[in-house]
Amino acid sequence: MRVITTLQDMLDARAGCASSRAVGLVPTMGYLHEGHLSLVRQARRESDILAVSIFVNPTQFGPHEDLERYPRDLPRDLRMLESCGVDLVFTPTTADIYPPGFATYVDPSGPLVETAEGASRPGHFRGVATVVLKLFQILRPHRAYFGQKDAQQVAVISRMVADLNLSVVLRILPTIREADGLAMSSRNAYLAPEERAAATVLHRALEAGKQVFEGSTPEGPAGVIEAMQEVVAGEPRARLDYAEVRDPKTFLPLESLRAPALLLIAAFVGPTRLIDNFLLRPDGTWDTGVELTGPAT
Ligand code: AMP
Repeated sequence: MRVITTLQDMLDARAGCASSRAVGLVPTMGYLHEGHLSLVRQARRESDILAVSIFVNPTQFGPHEDLERYPRDLPRDLRMLESCGVDLVFTPTTADIYPPGFATYVDPSGPLVETAEGASRPGHFRGVATVVLKLFQILRPHRAYFGQKDAQQVAVISRMVADLNLSVVLRILPTIREADGLAMSSRNAYLAPEERAAATVLHRALEAGKQVFEGSTPEGPAGVIEAMQEVVAGEPRARLDYAEVRDPKTFLPLESLRAPALLLIAAFVGPTRLIDNFLLRPDGTWDTGVELTGPAT
């Protein structure tokens, strides 16, 4: 495994890859967990050359968010990636990605970035789209791997790939969960033990919403949302940011209970903001993620 720390070395390494070889890219912000590794393992199976980027992207953090204290442990990340058989790890500096004078951003617009995460985190998806396009330009992957955990990120990047005619195939993989349902996230490291127990409330709320959805309540999406809100209201350590039912591609609110649909939730558990979702696919089957059976981390 080669660890590449400068933009020029990365460009040179990519230029040296034979054109017949399929390049896979897994973009991450590091502090890796089984969710990231599920992407890496799938990418390993489908790529001749597998690259993972680790970059805590400042432009996707709001001014009062957790950029400074975002968890980092590069030596541990590298050990995990080595054991997955990764070929290249790209760990650029901020100055490499945003050199002095940097002025060109990808600025997605419309409901897709004005709702849900976009409403709670203004500018977030501008930062995400910009860095992902830059990584695509630098690494020129044939396939890129993203988690359904960040459903709106998936929608924004899919839109960008279509709108800008990018020749990369996106592979979207299910949310990996702890045995008790909590979606794995680097931010789970912020949770104190009592908060860690309370954090299952997001998954519990989604389960409740799904049940109401499947019961075809006459109240429609409002009934599903109410069921999710009630579960969060019952957890004293949690404060709901939003619970919503939206179209997974456009992020427009659903007017009736039909597939495809996305049940979305964001909540603070103590000071930590967590997100989660369940996806009802067009064929009527649910993607609720995959629970790991091993000991919780
Ligand atoms: P991050 O390091 O948070 O930017 O995440 C890097 C990639 O891993 C993104 O595509 C995420 O959606 C994905 N990811 C994060 N958590 C999970 C999870 N629990 N299951 C599956 N994918 C995940």
